Amino acid sequence: MTEETIFAKIIRGEIPADIVYQDDRATAFRDISPQAPTHILIVPNNPIPTVNDVSEQDEADLGHLFVVAAELAKQEGIAEDGFRLIVNCNRDGGQIVFHLHMHLLGGRPLGRMVARPK
Ligand code: AMP
Repeated sequence: MTEETIFAKIIRGEIPADIVYQDDRATAFRDISPQAPTHILIVPNNPIPTVNDVSEQDEADLGHLFVVAAELAKQEGIAEDGFRLIVNCNRDGGQIVFHLHMHLLGGRPLGRMVARPK
């Protein structure tokens, strides 16, 4: 069985988070360590550890993350200027919480898509 993460507890309301959206498929809350003026995590309520674990039966849940992202970008006032959506996977992707999630980042120019190695 997959180990539960802190995100499952946030989704169930068992630990505090700044939740900005929730429905039966997805929950969105502000990142605790924001990397931009808007930094929201959009999380499917049904946990999937990583993108490697995605299957066809997840298509509706994962497609819904984009619908929520578009709505939140409008609400945050960043839709017109633009924003970035990121899904990290495993070590090289920089994933630290193993409950698949989409980062919605915006509110300033975000620069290069990928940092160059130093
Ligand atoms: P990732 O590297 O894609 O796994 O991103 C995990 C994100 O979760 C990081 O940006 C963390 O700052 C964020 N995070 C971890 N714990 C919490 C929490 N309790 N509430 C909100 N965001 C969190």
